[in-house]
Amino acid sequence: MTTPAVPMVKAEGVHKSFGHAHILKGIDLEVAAGEVFCLVGPSGSGKSTFLRCINHLEKISAGRLSVDGHLVGYRQKGDRLYELKEREVAAQRRDIGMVFQRFNLFPHMTAVENVMEAPVQVKGESRAAARERALKLLDRVGLGNRTGNYPSQLSGGQQQRVAIARALAMEPKLMLFDEPTSALDPELVGEVLDVMRGLAEDGMTMIVVTHEMGFAREVGDSLVFMDDGVVVESGHPRDVLTDPQHERTKAFLSKVL
Ligand code: ADP
Ligand code: MG
Repeated sequence: MTTPAVPMVKAEGVHKSFGHAHILKGIDLEVAAGEVFCLVGPSGSGKSTFLRCINHLEKISAGRLSVDGHLVGYRQKGDRLYELKEREVAAQRRDIGMVFQRFNLFPHMTAVENVMEAPVQVKGESRAAARERALKLLDRVGLGNRTGNYPSQLSGGQQQRVAIARALAMEPKLMLFDEPTSALDPELVGEVLDVMRGLAEDGMTMIVVTHEMGFAREVGDSLVFMDDGVVVESGHPRDVLTDPQHERTKAFLSKVL
């Protein structure tokens, strides 16, 4: 008998409230290692909140959430949970890369300096080693000729590709994308999706919140439709997108497709 593989992300009855606002209402899902997992749903349904819980930017209110078999923010001993110390949380976060709608690059640093920053500051890597890898990563996202440019000298699509390279510089085992192309002019969306497609082909585990249903259909392995803090339906993107089972999914897709 083979041991079942540990999912990269596992959510069991995950709840999140902000004060009296109940935002995540019992999320159950599993993301397998190497999978491209697309998360779609209307604005306000809790997609960003869920990603932020995975990445320690928010604490869940109830349920269990684990990444690569480790509870997010806690250690379990017997029946009891102990909160991780700051240093341990930082170690968990290091394995997770996140790319936001807004690229948030350091404006006073060149592309290569942006990509080197975390490995040098957080991992204590030598500048020479960090620079060498940063140059390779920028090459991988198609920016080998823009390494010395400042963010203000780059298009939105180029800045977002630098942001992806910056996240990859920490050698994450999981990448979270929160509407990475929503702030881009339409003609710049494709170059960012192409980089994400390349990452997927290289086997990166990715959770992608997006309204780009073409990408979800072509690159996604799973798709979850979320509304009002619950998973309404899930399945292979082709199936959910072509034959949605729930009215809410149909209504949403009729607006974005
Ligand atoms: P989505 O990404 O699907 O658009 P969000 O996760 O950003 O949805 O937000 C879901 C709901 O949670 C929204 O109603 C939002 O106002 C609320 N929310 C998000 N963050 C906070 C917060 N820090 N405090 C209070 N409410 C929040
Ligand atoms: Mg959001």
